[in-house]
This record gives sequence, structure tokens and C-alpha cells, in this order.
Amino acid sequence: MPTESRPRRALLRNTQHATRNTRTLIRPLVRKLHAYVPGEQPKIKGLIKLNTNENPYPPSPKVLAAIKAAVDGRLRLYPNPTSQALREKLAKFHRCSPENVIIGNGSDELLALAVRTFVEPGATVQYFTPSYSLYPVLADSHDARKNSVRLAADFTLPRIELLRKSKAWDFDAALTFITTPNAPSGRGFPTAELEALCRLHRGVVVLDEAYVDFAEENALRLALTHPHVLVARTFSKAYSLCFQRVGYCVGPPALIAALDKLRDSYNVNGLGQLGALATLDNLVYYRKNFARIKTTRARLTRQLVELGFEVLPSQTNFLLARPPRFPAEDWLGKLRARRILVRWFANPAVRDYLRITIGTESEVNALVQAAAAILGE
Ligand code: PMP
Repeated sequence: MPTESRPRRALLRNTQHATRNTRTLIRPLVRKLHAYVPGEQPKIKGLIKLNTNENPYPPSPKVLAAIKAAVDGRLRLYPNPTSQALREKLAKFHRCSPENVIIGNGSDELLALAVRTFVEPGATVQYFTPSYSLYPVLADSHDARKNSVRLAADFTLPRIELLRKSKAWDFDAALTFITTPNAPSGRGFPTAELEALCRLHRGVVVLDEAYVDFAEENALRLALTHPHVLVARTFSKAYSLCFQRVGYCVGPPALIAALDKLRDSYNVNGLGQLGALATLDNLVYYRKNFARIKTTRARLTRQLVELGFEVLPSQTNFLLARPPRFPAEDWLGKLRARRILVRWFANPAVRDYLRITIGTESEVNALVQAAAAILGE
């Protein structure tokens, strides 16, 4: 990369500032856009990080070995453009064909691609609230109309008759995102209810199953039996691979092929592809982790309830809990002062709650101790 000398760089900066109003270079839509705010990733020593739903356990040693073994001169080569080996392996795993599968740079990339593929600017992107806070950002960035509909007060799916009567839910929306199990509530939605809802939709429905490995049921079969339903999955959460950014969608070949047209060539890096492939060869290791996390989840729920928290039943690797005594936002600060990071959302539907990722046994012990100490202040 050619480099400018320091004085010349400064000169360039100054003349550009003098002659241009840089604001006008940016599309009005982008100027107005509120970008997605990811959970904090601080590098403070000794901090217990329960704020971004990462898996507290590392990838399988065999996965780490496979990735390390690939770090050599081959890094100069492009990876497979469609992640074909991974598509084939996932197709076998889900008993479908590779044409039913597309791999993304994290499932976030595929959610964004779905908006670009299925939604004309001005048409509707629909989702329940509270759910994944990326959906409105994707809609805004595409100049789509947003239709956000409140979940029932206990965060279950509203009854279909109610959705039909209220007219708030748009069965003609170009694209509907449903996070299942839901984030940040942690609640799972019964597949039968999801299927009944999908049947009434005339646009595309994406079932975002980022947390499904911690749930009792999944809705994958809907993506293989309905012409307008896609299921999005990720290696980030259950498979401890956030760093590598690998997600995928399963669905009807026509929709998958359409998504594929807009996919960046080489969208998934080579080490990510290898890591995901090795993961699928070591599922026993991961299933043990799911069981451990579910056991810790049950224990933490019990202990928080004993301390006076109201805890929602969770089908994920996090809990949504309404803390006692102080406002939830204050708890965020009080826990942080004790070096424990959890997540708080300003969304009115959940502003009284904290979202707490299930950590290791000892991380969860520290959280319970800190909460008890805060209550004893
Ligand atoms: N869906 C939901 C509901 C999520 O919480 C996340 C993670 N923030 C994602 C999708 C995206 O995960 P990734 O891009 O890491 O696959």
C-alpha cells in the first residue's frame, strides 16, 4: 500500500475539509441510519463476560487442531467460493440436498441478504418485538417499511386469531423474521404454532434459529416443506465459533439460488469453512456442552428466583431476568462495578430486565454472589 508522508497527509486532509461538505457525499438514508449496536467486547482483565451469548466453552480440541493445521502457505489461495464441502456436509446432516443450503459470513450476512433478495425498497419487513435488534436496522438500510408487532405480555406468540383480528400483523409482508427460540426473551415457540403462522403468509418467512441447539424442538422441517420458509442457523453460539463467522440458511432451492445471486464471492473465509467442517465431525463434544449449559441454566434460574428475580423460562444459552429492588439499568452498573458484564436493552418491552448469558459454573457462581452482595448493600 503506498504511503503518504505525514505532512502531505495532513495537507490533503485540510484541503479536503476546506473544499467539501463531506455530509453531502453520504446518502440521506445512511446519514439518518442508526447502526446496529453490538454487545461490548472489552478486554479488561478478570472481567466475567455474560453479555453477548458467547459459549463459555472453547471449540473442540480437534476443531482447533484442524484450523491450526491449515495456517500455512495456502493462506495465499482463495477459499472455495460457495463453501461447497460445508454445504454438502450440512445437507447430509439435515437430510436434504446441497441446493437447500447456503453458507454465510455469520448468519447476520444471510439475514441482510434476505432483505436485499426478497424486499423491494418500500415493501415491508416484519418482526415481533422484542426480538433481534438487527432486523429494524436491516429494514432501514434498505429503505423498507418496518412492521414491528408486540409479542404477548409473557413473550409467547400472540394467538393467530388475534393477529388476524388486530390487523397489525401483515400476512402479505415481503419478509417476516421470527427469532425462535426468541432473543432476548429466551422463550421457545412451538413448531406447530410457527407452522400455522407460516401457512398464512404470502411473503418469505425466515425462522432465525440462532439459539435452537439449546431448545427442545426446532422448526427445520418447515424450511424443507414450505416454498416460502427459510431457517437460519449459526456456528457462533452452540458451536463456540463466533470468531470464525459461519452461519447458514436451509430452504427451498429457488430461494437459496436467489440469495446466492447476491452473495459476495468468497463470502466465507477459508479457516471458517474448515472450522465448521471439523465441528460437524465432533458433535459429541458439543452435545456435552449443550447439556452442561442447560444444567447451569436450570441452576442459575433457581438461584436468581431465590434472590427475588423474576426469570423467564429459557430455551437458549441466556436468561431474561427482571431484577428486584433497583431498576435493571442500575443493576447493569452495579454488576459491572463488580466486574460482571450483562446486557440491558432500552427497548420499552424489556427495559426492566437483564439478559444474562449462561457462563461456566464458576462464572455463574460469581454472578449469584455479586447479586446477593448487591441486594445486601
Ligand atoms: N440471530 C440472532 C437472534 C442473534 O442473536 C445473532 C447473534 N447476535 C445472530 C442471528 C447472528 O449470529 P452470527 O452472525 O454470529 O451467526
